[in-house]
Amino acid sequence: MTDPRPANDEAAERWLTESRQRLLHTALAPEAVSIGRVERVADTIVRVSGLPEARLNEILHFDGGQTGFVLSLDAHAISAVVLDGATTIQAGSRVSRTGAVAQMPVGPGMLGRVVDPLGRPLDGGQPVVAEAWQPLERPAPAIIQRDMVSQQVDTGILVIDTLFTLGRGQRELIIGDRATGKTSVAVDTIIAQKTSDITCVYVAIGQRATAVERVIEAVHQHGAPERCIFVVASAAASPGLQWIAPFAGMSIAEYFRDRGQHALIVIDDLTKHAATHRELALLTREPAGREAYPGDIFYLHARLLERAAKLSDKLGGGSLTALPIAETDAGNLSAYIPTNLISITDGQIVLNSQLFAANQRPAVDVGLSVSRVGGKAQRPALRHVSGKIRLDYAQFLELEMFTRFGGIADTRVKAQVTRGERIRRLLQQPRFVTLRPVDQIALLAALNAGVLDALSATSIAELRARLPGHLDATMPDAVKALASDAVLHDAVREQLADAVRGLAGTLRENRS
Ligand code: ATP
Ligand code: MG
Repeated sequence: MTDPRPANDEAAERWLTESRQRLLHTALAPEAVSIGRVERVADTIVRVSGLPEARLNEILHFDGGQTGFVLSLDAHAISAVVLDGATTIQAGSRVSRTGAVAQMPVGPGMLGRVVDPLGRPLDGGQPVVAEAWQPLERPAPAIIQRDMVSQQVDTGILVIDTLFTLGRGQRELIIGDRATGKTSVAVDTIIAQKTSDITCVYVAIGQRATAVERVIEAVHQHGAPERCIFVVASAAASPGLQWIAPFAGMSIAEYFRDRGQHALIVIDDLTKHAATHRELALLTREPAGREAYPGDIFYLHARLLERAAKLSDKLGGGSLTALPIAETDAGNLSAYIPTNLISITDGQIVLNSQLFAANQRPAVDVGLSVSRVGGKAQRPALRHVSGKIRLDYAQFLELEMFTRFGGIADTRVKAQVTRGERIRRLLQQPRFVTLRPVDQIALLAALNAGVLDALSATSIAELRARLPGHLDATMPDAVKALASDAVLHDAVREQLADAVRGLAGTLRENRS
């Protein structure tokens, strides 16, 4: 038997070079033959033959310099979406494989940037500095890698924090008709993270450029833009870019989740994403199902939103909270896409156009909204004071129907209605006004103590605006203590109610 090992140094060198070349040759061989041909172009979808080894989501290069990615694989040909410049591609032109799936740059270098779904800057700045590149589609964490949702996301919006608490790692759908304040709820939540440790990713899909600009401007004016990332595929972007946008956003947010940090992603909105998916599917001639959406639309959104998770301590305990947005038509929650999304998520904030028109903003429909996992994550101090509100408000809404037409004789019922009306006014909140947990606790403690019963709507609004400053000045210790997860002692609760009472007294004096 001959020894395969080389006899001397020179032979060793030659052996190494040869084997390297052999290796290189095998690696290059498939790519060398991976040139396909465009068979048909339909809008932004091209049908390509001659690339049998192409993978799903693999990036393809066209001869004219355009890029696309593989959307579906058939036995004889593949369908690819062209990401830009689709109109210049013609049947017969050459296509080459790259061997790489669509990827997104991720890392702290993305913070504060506005990028498109391939990570190219849209803010006129330098190319982003990537710490790593992540594929757009990644498997969601397995059950064993997850932990229970146990910490609160402070949205700064009273009605959400008290009645529909959001937990870190939760998926909460924001759903409502056109122009009912869906984006506003999400953006106010992002703005409220100015004082938290949560990194925010805002994904805009198929929106007008001016609407996206307004969101970015609002965050720059009121929030912490240096801890936000905007992924934008506006209405003018190609359907392919719009299609990958939420996946790109998820990959960026996962970077923080996987490093034991906390992230929040807003996807604005998935109704438009579903429409884009339908458009692409009809062009690739997939069989259409209900409302002409292809059958895999549920799976598409489920695998996207499953990536939001609270990770176990062993994996660093990071979290990714998702706030997908969906639009309804005439309040119809039982349409196909809304029901899909409601069943994928852990709850929904339903915005009602009638409430919005009646100036009850944020127009949260308290009867239809729900947060399925957030209740356990609510701060103990906030839970202490918000339990009664929930009951009082529900009773009031029922009573209101019965008492609408007649005078109320019973004093007990009268008191309940008065209290309910104050709660309703308290839940009205202008945009960009973030309430800290301590402000919310003080307001609710005062409400439960009957301090607000005698105040008019304008006084309540003024009270809310002046409260944070008043508490900072009069009760700095309580403000500091309640910023953490501290429990609420009865004495502190009474002090907070007294502080509000004192402030309310000055308001009335000012008025008279
Ligand atoms: P679209 O369907 O167009 O995406 P939308 O549901 O996202 O709309 P927004 O754009 O958030 O709605 O809000 C619609 C309008 O309502 C905006 O002009 C916004 O300033 C106003 N608005 C939203 N929330 C409030 C609020 N809490 N107080 C006062 N105005 C509000
Ligand atoms: Mg919107």
